[in-house]
Amino acid sequence: MEQRFYIAILLFVFLGLTTYDAYSQKGSKITTVVIDAGHGGKDPGAVGKNAKEKDIALAIAKQTGSYIKKYLPDVNVIYTRNSDKFIPLHKRAEIANKNNADFFISIHCNANSNRKAYGSETYTMGLHKSNANLNVAMLENAAIMFEDDAEEQYQGFDANSTESYIRFSLFQDTYQDQSILLATYIQDQFKSRVGRKDRGVHQAGFLVLWRTAMPGVLVELGFISNLTEEKFLMSEKGQAYMASAIYRAFKKYKLDFEKENRVEEKEETIVYSGLSYRIQFFTSPQLFELSNPKFTGLSDLFVYAHNGLYKYTAGRFNTFGEASAYLFKVREKDFKDAFVVAFQAEERISIEEARKLEKNN
Ligand SMILES: [Zn+2]
Repeated sequence: MEQRFYIAILLFVFLGLTTYDAYSQKGSKITTVVIDAGHGGKDPGAVGKNAKEKDIALAIAKQTGSYIKKYLPDVNVIYTRNSDKFIPLHKRAEIANKNNADFFISIHCNANSNRKAYGSETYTMGLHKSNANLNVAMLENAAIMFEDDAEEQYQGFDANSTESYIRFSLFQDTYQDQSILLATYIQDQFKSRVGRKDRGVHQAGFLVLWRTAMPGVLVELGFISNLTEEKFLMSEKGQAYMASAIYRAFKKYKLDFEKENRVEEKEETIVYSGLSYRIQFFTSPQLFELSNPKFTGLSDLFVYAHNGLYKYTAGRFNTFGEASAYLFKVREKDFKDAFVVAFQAEERISIEEARKLEKNN
C-alpha cells in the first residue's frame, strides 16, 4: 500500500507567499495606533527661539490622531499624552504594548547647534550609521534625565556613551521591515505633499522604540533651532500639513497591509471536503508559481507535496467520468503522461477506493 500521508498545499492564489514575510504583524487588520507626542511637562524637549518641542509635538500628534479618527473610523487612536504632562519613555512603550497596538508613531522636533540645518527625517530602531544619527538619538534619550528610576528601567543604559548605543542597538527589531516601510511613506509625504526637505529614513537607538512590541517610527518633523522651520512648525497651516502627511502615510500603510492580508485569508480558508478527482500532469522537486506560463490553459490548479516532490494537478470533478473527459484535454496540452488521481478531502486515495465511494454516494 502506498504512503497515505500527503500534505496538501493550497495554492490557488499563489500570491502572498513572497510578500508574506514583509507583513508579519499579528492579525490581518490595522486597528490600533498609538500616537506619542514627545516630551511634556517638566521635559520641554528642544527649545527654539519662540517654541518648545513638547508643544509642537503635542499639537501635531493630536491633529494626526484627529485625522485618523475622522477618515479611518475603524482605527482606535491612543495617545500617550494629550496634555502637557511628563511621561517616562518606558511608560510610553508600556501604553502601546498594553493596548496591543499595531503601530507606534512618536512625534518630535530636531535641534542642532548649526542653525542652518533644516528638513524632516524619520527614524526606526537600529544601529546608527553616522554620528549625526547617533546624536539625534542621544538628544531624544536625554529625556530620561527627568526620570527618577532611569537606572533600573533602562538596565544601566548610559545615554551619553557610544558603547552603550552599539550594545543596545543589537537588540533585533522584529518589525524593522514594517517600520521602515511606514517611515518611507512618511518621508514621501513630507517631501511631495508638504515640500519639506527630505533628510531620509535612518536608524538609531531610541529608548522609546526599544520596548514597543510592534512596528514603530520616530518622526523628526523639522528643526526648531532653525528660525524659518520653527515658524513653519508653529503655524496653524504648517501643523495641519505635517499632521495630514503623517495621516496619509499611515493610511497608505494600512490599506497596503490589509490588501496583502485579504489574499492570505482567502488562501487559508479554501478547504475541500468530500470526494474529488483531479488530473495530475506534472511532478517536480521545484515549487513553481501557478501563474507560470507552462500552466496556461489549465484550470483549478492544485499542488500537493509527496515524497519530497511537488505534484501539480488540474481540474476538480465529482465523477471519474468527468475527470476522464478532462484528462484528454490535459494530454493535448503536451502533458502526455497525465493521469487521474482521487482525493478524499485533501488526502489522496486510490482510484479503486474512490470509485467505490462514488458508487455508494
Ligand atoms: Zn524629542
